[in-house]
Amino acid sequence: MDIGFIGLGTMGRPMAEHLIAGGHTLFLHSRSGVPETLLLHGGRACASPVEVARRADLIVTMLPDTADVERVLFGEEGVAHGLSPGKTVVDMSTVSPGATREFAARIGRYGCSYADAPVSGGDIGARNATLTIMVGAPPEVFERMRPILALLGSRITRIGDCGAGQTCKLANQIVVVLTIEAVGEALLFASRAGVDPARVREALLGGFAASRVLEVHGERMLRRAFDPGFRIELHRKDLALALSDARALGLNLPNTAATQALLDACMACGGGGWDSSALVKALEREAGHEIGTPSPMP
Ligand code: NAD
Repeated sequence: MDIGFIGLGTMGRPMAEHLIAGGHTLFLHSRSGVPETLLLHGGRACASPVEVARRADLIVTMLPDTADVERVLFGEEGVAHGLSPGKTVVDMSTVSPGATREFAARIGRYGCSYADAPVSGGDIGARNATLTIMVGAPPEVFERMRPILALLGSRITRIGDCGAGQTCKLANQIVVVLTIEAVGEALLFASRAGVDPARVREALLGGFAASRVLEVHGERMLRRAFDPGFRIELHRKDLALALSDARALGLNLPNTAATQALLDACMACGGGGWDSSALVKALEREAGHEIGTPSPMP
């Protein structure tokens, strides 16, 4: 199939690679330029989103935020200007569910289909093609694009109609970020009490507190390895979307709001580009203690 791919950053680049390896012809565009490796594997660079839409039957976007998706789809030189009936647009970014429903309606006016298919699994999942993909689309659109998504992920679920994939992804982010915060609190607590946090993590991995977050982010906290990964600014964007939708629903999410304040604190000291495991730094700053530094005996 002729597939367009717009947004070739941390996630988009390896995903586009898998689609090329799956035998498809890829038409590529990214503000940061098209990585050389994709061109070497046969990908074709396009100067704009409109050129991608003219040349491809299915157009995938993997962009940072809602405003980026809107610009790429409907701005000057946007995808919409290159569409003809029968094409499909799949947004795999994490963006607002409400805006997604609006984008779907606007794309529908061109005689085209729309799906939201945000992902979980991080840069590792993108590289290994083991992403979890949460799809919002009519059933027939989902079935049509399932073989393409199967090249990128290992668990692909239709959640409901357009926007439902994004709501599911925000629910996922609530669990992930609050778990990162809990792991940070637990390791800080142990370390401040003079107990080796690495041994605590090791022991906890065998019990009821075990999780992928304890394994991956816990290890990053201990190694002080804060290169992204998944950036603090992206998690903050996702929790902002969840909190805004919750407010519209008249719903209080107290721990999501408290964790967002910790992400804000990281942003305020220039940490937007850190891996989200660096959220522990906000806790450490308040405690006046860094995990791994010797603690005076209580
Ligand atoms: P990124 O910033 O690394 O990449 C985004 C890409 O989009 C960049 O290459 C940038 O040049 C391009 N871009 C931005 N605006 C553009 C425009 N107007 N026109 C063309 N290209 C444009 O971001 P990422 O980490 O790959 O994340 C992408 C999306 O996936 C986000 O919504 C994020 O929340 C979500 N996500 C990320 C991860 C992760 O681990 N990084 C995991 C799951 C989901």
